Amino acid sequence: MKSDILVCSDPDDTHERPVYTLGGECPECGARAVNSAPAPFSPTDPHGEYRRALKRRHRQ
Ligand SMILES: [Zn+2]
Repeated sequence: MKSDILVCSDPDDTHERPVYTLGGECPECGARAVNSAPAPFSPTDPHGEYRRALKRRHRQ
């Protein structure tokens, strides 16, 4: 049986880490949730962590 776990599809890195849900939308930002595979971000993206850190700083 396939997993029903979905992940927030927000393309703008609203969350510091993927938000998983069993519903059709993200419980935090309301964006559409999509199947958790493929991953919403690339683990090999060298800039991902930096961008997220930058955004975190802007929020303070
Ligand atoms: Zn979200």
